Amino acid sequence: MRGNVFLRYVLPPLIALPIGFLLLYPQLIRCMRISQSAAFRSLSHTQGVYVSRKTTPKQEIVLRQHVLTARDRIRRFWSGQKGKAILIYCPSQSDYEQYCIGGEGAGCSLGLPWGDSYLVLGPDGNNTDVIAHELCHDELFARLGWWRVKRQIPQWFNEGLALMVDYRFSSPSVWEHPDSIQTEDPLFERQAPVYRNPVMIKLKDLETTRDFFGGGSEHVMRAYQTAAEEVARWLSLVEQPGVPALANAILAGKPFSKAYQELERTHRNNQKRQSSKP
Ligand SMILES: [Zn+2]
Repeated sequence: MRGNVFLRYVLPPLIALPIGFLLLYPQLIRCMRISQSAAFRSLSHTQGVYVSRKTTPKQEIVLRQHVLTARDRIRRFWSGQKGKAILIYCPSQSDYEQYCIGGEGAGCSLGLPWGDSYLVLGPDGNNTDVIAHELCHDELFARLGWWRVKRQIPQWFNEGLALMVDYRFSSPSVWEHPDSIQTEDPLFERQAPVYRNPVMIKLKDLETTRDFFGGGSEHVMRAYQTAAEEVARWLSLVEQPGVPALANAILAGKPFSKAYQELERTHRNNQKRQSSKP
């Protein structure tokens, strides 16, 4: 009887759900089959990167350098790298749309419930900041798992954290020491952060991906701005070791908001104690 119930009611949805998920998003199937695609090949001398055959030799040289620099930045930010995402570079928009759902932005990250993840870079994605940003999403995903990230991590934190390694939108001085960034990226001219005079949105209104990305482009820009401001504020208090410490606390079972606030409180108390010393 129990076996019948399992076969009739439990097994079909268990099989149908992942299949439905993949059918709904053909881009995911393409990502999963990237190593068999005739239109792509693996990038030499750099592990885990596939490039479209349309990629020029110059684009390849630049991409190799950007991937190395971005991975190095992630290792410094997270005190190591656990993410193993496959990078897929599409220098043309039409290819990008085949691999990234929506085909918007310079890059996108696709994490699957069973742990595989893909970072797709579009025509504007051959850039250290774009790659570091997507790798940061992947690192959070690798450390906490798909379910925990979906259930526990507010979108403002996920995006805000990625913006801390994306120097188009934040200053490296929030967590890096100047000597470690001077020679970082010879191929990319550092730009000043784009956002000025932020108009903040309440964090509780930026909890879900729909909250964050659901409005028009102006809302999304303000959402990024708010996320970057908040995480930069927190990070300047807890400093770089606070990033892996937060992930470890959540992994140990602490709810996100508790772990986030506790780290901040501990650092405030330490600062007070130090400043009250004669
Ligand atoms: Zn992002």
